Amino acid sequence: MADLPPLREVIARHDLRASKALGQNFLLDEQLLDRIAAIPGDLGDSAVLEIGPGPGGLTRALLRAGARVTAIEMDRRCLPALAELGEAYPGRLRVIEGDALAIDHDALMGEPYAVVANLPYNVGTALFTRWLGGQEWPPRWTSLTLMFQQEVAQRIVAAPDSSAYGRLAVLAQWRGQAKLAMKVHRSAFTPPPKVMSAIVHVEPGAMPEGVSALALERLTAAAFGQRRKMLRQSLKGVPGAAEALDTLGIEPTRRAETLSVADFVAIARELSAGSSAR
Ligand code: SAM
Repeated sequence: MADLPPLREVIARHDLRASKALGQNFLLDEQLLDRIAAIPGDLGDSAVLEIGPGPGGLTRALLRAGARVTAIEMDRRCLPALAELGEAYPGRLRVIEGDALAIDHDALMGEPYAVVANLPYNVGTALFTRWLGGQEWPPRWTSLTLMFQQEVAQRIVAAPDSSAYGRLAVLAQWRGQAKLAMKVHRSAFTPPPKVMSAIVHVEPGAMPEGVSALALERLTAAAFGQRRKMLRQSLKGVPGAAEALDTLGIEPTRRAETLSVADFVAIARELSAGSSAR
């Protein structure tokens, strides 16, 4: 195993003061980082895509776990520290300078890959929506292990009949399994963010037959756009929705948050079948 200097020393030597604009909150506790790198399971010789490695704490843990890491970082200041890390693990770390939102991850990786990231929260949610909303299923990524604000993590894994349940839960759960893998106290970060964090782990599941991702997206946008209203009202602008509820025996007086993910999938299936018939 490579003998590496403490992360605090790397940060001081390269003058990597955390930038608020880039959402930088670094993790420096190597034991915690090893526990995070273990969440996806055995990474021995697996390809891993890390977004936002910063000074490379999580990157080290992934390399220690045996992964071959491709890391996308947009802060140039971090590149020399990452280059040093690459020297300690020859041929196992590829660093790409750039904005992860502007890069085609499948083309970059060229093989199935696990995603592991501690990202700024706004970038994390945008990428999460993209990874889970893709037309191609199963996706090229084999799992997503991502840090979020705890409140967002709870929305991703939420069950029906809870205030956290909404579009994110349906998006994450309709063709995959999402679990809250670890809570991370704000004091674990340097500097500490204002809120608590949690790591979500998602694995892709089977694609339900006859459902278009677009139909489901439109349905949940309408249903949760007016979550306090009855479905009869909130789905008024969705062609075929009233008939779909009727066919499935779902009371139009119910509200969106009482419907299971399977209910949404069933309605979207009816809508998808209806729109191809129209
Ligand atoms: N992974 C490191 C850790 O756990 O200590 C750093 C985490 S810090 C919360 C987020 C990192 O993502 C920063 O290094 C930041 O520069 C980088 N970043 C922010 N936006 C990005 C983007 N759009 N593409 C790539 N990297 C980004």
